[in-house]
Parts: sequence; C-alpha cells; structure tokens
Amino acid sequence: MSDEAPLLDTLRSICGDAAVLTGGDMAAYATDWRDMFHGKPLCVVRPAETAEVAQCVAACAETGTAIVPQGGNTGLAGGATPDDSGTQVIVALDRMTAIRRIDPVGMTIEVEAGAILQTVKDAAGDENRLLPISLAAEGSARIGGLIATNAGGVDVLRYGMTRGLVLGLEVVLPDGQILSRLRHLRKDNAGYDLKQLFIGTEGTLGIVTAAVLRLVPQPRHRATALIAVPDIASAIALYARAQDEVGEALSAFELISGAGLDLVAEHMGQTAPVTADWVLLIEAGSSLPSLREAAEKLLETAFEEGWATDGVLAESEAQADALWQLRESLTEAEGKAGGAIKHDISVPITGIAAFLQEAGNMLRAVAPEAKFNVFGHLGDGNLHYNVMNVTREDAAKVNAAVHDVVAAHHGSISAEHGLGQYRVAEWARLASQPEHDLTRRIKDALDPDGLINPGKVVPKRG
Ligand SMILES: Cc1cc2nc3c(=O)[nH]c(=O)nc-3n(C[C@H](O)[C@H](O)[C@H](O)COP(=O)(O)OP(=O)(O)OC[C@H]3O[C@@H](n4cnc5c(N)ncnc54)[C@H](O)[C@@H]3O)c2cc1C
Repeated sequence: MSDEAPLLDTLRSICGDAAVLTGGDMAAYATDWRDMFHGKPLCVVRPAETAEVAQCVAACAETGTAIVPQGGNTGLAGGATPDDSGTQVIVALDRMTAIRRIDPVGMTIEVEAGAILQTVKDAAGDENRLLPISLAAEGSARIGGLIATNAGGVDVLRYGMTRGLVLGLEVVLPDGQILSRLRHLRKDNAGYDLKQLFIGTEGTLGIVTAAVLRLVPQPRHRATALIAVPDIASAIALYARAQDEVGEALSAFELISGAGLDLVAEHMGQTAPVTADWVLLIEAGSSLPSLREAAEKLLETAFEEGWATDGVLAESEAQADALWQLRESLTEAEGKAGGAIKHDISVPITGIAAFLQEAGNMLRAVAPEAKFNVFGHLGDGNLHYNVMNVTREDAAKVNAAVHDVVAAHHGSISAEHGLGQYRVAEWARLASQPEHDLTRRIKDALDPDGLINPGKVVPKRG
C-alpha cells in the first residue's frame, strides 16, 4: 500500500495504475470548459468497463467518498467540476467509447457512455440514419453527459430533447449496483420508467454507463436560409407561417442578434451575408425532393408580408455549412470579447418579444453599461440571453433581474444547460416548496449518503 489514501490503491487495483490520475495529470478534468469553475479532486479514475465503474463506486461508497461523474466536460453549468476540498473522485467515462450495435431497421444504436456525439452520429450516418442531437460541442460532448444533461441543441424543434431519444439505459447506482435496461424497444410500459431518473439529473442519482438511442431517417435534402427580420414580432409571424408551409420538415429556427454577428466578424473573421438587429437561421430537412420549392415559397411570402428585409437561401452544402458556422461561433466570439454572464432561459414563444423588452428595461436600471449577445433556439422559446460588459461582482443582481422576468413569464431559468452548481442557488430561490421537498426526497431515496455529485442540482441542506 502506498502512503497516499488507501482508496487510491483500491481504485488502481480495480482499473489499473495508468487509469488513476493525480497531481498535474488531473488539470484538464478539474476545470470546466469555460474556465469558470476550478476544482481540486482527490484523483481522476478512468474505468474501461461498466463492472469497473461499479467497483469504483462501491469502493467510494465504503469510504464515504464523494464522486463527480464526467463525460466530455463541455457542460455549461459546472456540473462536472468537483469542489476544492481535495476529497472528491472524478469518475471519467472517456475510455468507455464503444459503439456496441446499430440496428438500421429498428432504428436504434447501443453505445457506451463515453462515446463522443460526433462519432456516434458518423456511425449512424454510415447506415443512412441520423442521431438527431446537434450542438456546437458535438466533437467533444459524450453520450453519458448528453443524457445526464438532457441536452437540447438546434434540432429540438423537430426531434425533441435528448430524453425522447433514450430507449434504454445502463446505470451504476450510488451503492455500486448495476441497473441494466438496455432494451431496443420503442414501447415499454412495464412498471415505472426508471431510466427517467437519470436523464437530465446531471449525474446526481447515478452514473450512466451505456444507452440505447433512437435513430431517425437521414434527410436527403436540406434548405438553409439566413433572413434579416425587422423585429421579433415579424420573426414569430414567420415562424408560424413556416410551420404551415414546411411543417414537420422544419428542424431549426434560430435567432441571432446583429450584435452577435458583429462579435463573430470581429473575433472570428466570419462575415454574415446579411445584417440587421435580428437575423434568423432557418433549416428544414426532408427525404422528399420538393423541399427547396417549399422553402422558396416561404421566403417569398416573408418578403411580401414584410417579415423579412433581406436574406439568402443557401445554394450549396458548403454555403449552408458557412451559415451554420456563424451560429456556432457565437459562444467562442463572446469568450474572446471578454465573456458574459450567461442565461439559458425559455418562455412561451409568444412571450419572447415582451420578455426581451422587459429584461432589457430591468437591466438598464441594474447594469447601465451592459451589452448583450442574445441568440438561441427561437422555435423552442429558448434564448441564450448573455449579458456582457458587466463585472463578475454584478453577476448576482444581473442573474436575479433576468430570472425574475423569466419567472413573471412562467418560463424556465435553465432551458437546456441544467443547474449544475452555477444555477442551483437561483433555482432554490425561485422553486416552490413542493418542488424543494420532492427533489430532496428523490435525492435521499437514491443517494442517502449524498455522495453522488453533491452540491449540484439539489441545494445543500440548509
Ligand atoms: C460550444 C458549446 C455549445 C453548446 N451548445 C449546447 C446546446 O446547444 N444545447 C445544450 O443542451 N447544451 C449545449 N452545450 C452544453 C454541453 O455541450 C451539453 O451540456 C452536453 O450535454 C454535455 O456533455 P458532456 O459529455 O461534455 O458532459 P460533462 O460536461 O462532462 O457533464 C455534464 C453533466 O453531466 C454529468 N455527467 C457526465 N457524464 C455522465 C455520466 N456518464 N453519467 C452521469 N452523469 C454524467 C456531469 O456530472 C455533469 O453534471 C454546449 C457547450 C459548448 C461548450
């Protein structure tokens, strides 16, 4: 036995010496993607299979050691970053990357939790199938993390959140037991749907080790347009018409502010073909060849009705990709410009214009120097309402101002990124007593010793 904590020796005996990282080797795992949360783990353990995860969790449970599950570490709520006590163990799933099975007829894929989203999408694409989760972090985010955060992204409008794509799950419970329901079934009403406990709960109730996901047909044609709109009301009118004209083929309806496009031009060297205070990135996809005609008709209507002032319909895949590049560069451009206090809010889509007006008024009073980078999934009523040019010291009052307007609109303070450690205090401030009580009872029932991702999602005991 070494002179380090005996637990480290146990973890080494389970996973092998090379799979237990300490000291400087832990650096990439100890800080989040935005470099906003900085933890000090006891160690990082990288199991190679589910049985090893289970043994590691059991060993930690025995010694009363807290665990932080981690996937691609791209989460935007600090959920995968440990505290700075030097006592928590990061269980990283990044060695469990196998794609176990694809069924192109049943339209399912079974993968380990550490598989990277892009790799899984490529494997599905090889079978002419699509895993419809699309987000700018897809080259790094891992399936377990996507499930644990119930990730959204730009395809939610058509295909729903990650939750709706999860058919089966394998999970290591806080006591080290393995719950395995890796069923390739679309229908399974036999008892409680236990997998739901682990989707969107950010690794606070167990560790996802593998999943069966639903695939959809790969659309053969896509139409992508960047449209300048005179105001938000016109954007909403165009959205309603798009639902009528291209219906279920509509997969993305994204809003970008002119200020955001300016950031992308200045810091990423990418220039948009249209500019305005508000711009829409719209995409539809279909197996049917008539899609382009329908898209052209929709744009004609938009100009006739005065909902659009300028716009381009991509003529090639490369042009469509370049339009998407503008959207996907917003976060990085914002970071290069000094960062922002981020909000990931949703309100009913018909309330978006009023929300923007009221939140803007509120912030002018609270932080008069504030600048904004607002973009997001307008079709889902979900905006990334990012406030720039304010100090970190002002974060609490800026957050409270924005979230109070969200609450007044019966919206959500976390549409897709989760609570992690970043938003847990604001959730605690705004949630009702029954929500507090039930959340605490579920946590205590599954993790009575509070060892799985403590301090995330569920507020600490008062
Ligand atoms: C540039 C960029 C763009 C993004 N765009 C979007 C977007 O459009 N929509 C969106 O929803 N998100 C977006 N995100 C956020 C992020 O990509 C997602 O939250 C993603 O699902 C996180 O996956 P991950 O593997 O990186 O998880 P991590 O960051 O490693 O972990 C996230 C949370 O899940 C838990 N967790 C991780 N793996 C497991 C597991 N196997 N079992 C149990 N718990 C686990 C962690 O403890 C943590 O609480 C974006 C992030 C970036 C950097």
